Amino acid sequence: MNSQIALIQNIDALLPQTQCGLCGHRDGCLPYAKSIAEGEAANKCVPGGQPVADALANLLGRERLTAEASVWPIQSDGRPQRMKAVIREDECIGCTKCINACPVDAILGSGKLMHSILTDLCTGCELCIPPCPVDCIDLVEDVKPVPTDAERMSEQKDLRQRYYAHIQREELRRLHRKGPVVRAEIDTALFAQFSQQTDAVPEIQMVEKADHPAVTHDAKTTIELAKLRTQIKKLEKQLSVREDANKRAQLAQLQQQLQHLQGEA
Ligand code: SF4
Ligand code: SF4
Ligand code: SF4
Repeated sequence: MNSQIALIQNIDALLPQTQCGLCGHRDGCLPYAKSIAEGEAANKCVPGGQPVADALANLLGRERLTAEASVWPIQSDGRPQRMKAVIREDECIGCTKCINACPVDAILGSGKLMHSILTDLCTGCELCIPPCPVDCIDLVEDVKPVPTDAERMSEQKDLRQRYYAHIQREELRRLHRKGPVVRAEIDTALFAQFSQQTDAVPEIQMVEKADHPAVTHDAKTTIELAKLRTQIKKLEKQLSVREDANKRAQLAQLQQQLQHLQGEA
């Protein structure tokens, strides 16, 4: 691994992985980590607060700067209060707009059905709130005890993995997406490039959109494609009810197989 990638990785390891974009980097923590490595000030992570700004100054041997202020009060660990989003489910119209906006896939639901948030996974990033047309998502204080350093590292690792899985899925869906795109397109190329240089995150593969996607398949390929699509639909349905890491991994694998077969055919 080259030293610049190692530096970005070390910076990223200190960032909360909320992927909220409040540092000014719409696509989340990694683009900010890259920009810090290239010289940007290291005090702009709002959810990280002063502890993250100080840890970054220490890592980089830079002057200590006052962290960007949060609208939330400061917790006992010096960081802004952790928040969680909650959907007022009786008001939800099931429009699904919040689902794509969530960088860590913490929202469950499907078209015209009530949606709910997996509270344990929600980071309080607020990205689901603006797209909601009926304004039925509230932010509430996270009442769980402030995490220990070890718990925080483990949580960050999990959020990072979930974000990469989210990016890969969005990249695959880009080809077939019919509905409106709620979140702006993520700069997938940056994440793909980074993921190829480290084993610490799942590899992200770019998908090329054909100018003329109409293709004819031989009978065997057509059957194989139909089988894959059925398996994918079944898994998506199961995952919309209950999250499961193995099924999620299986889904990503099937989607890649489908993509590969479509590309070959
Ligand atoms: S958690 Fe911090 S570094 Fe990550 S996107 Fe939000 S403000 Fe930026
Ligand atoms: S549910 Fe909303 S606030 Fe919670 S992580 Fe997802 S987008 Fe962010
Ligand atoms: S955006 Fe709002 S109304 Fe639409 S599914 Fe999400 S919570 Fe329900």
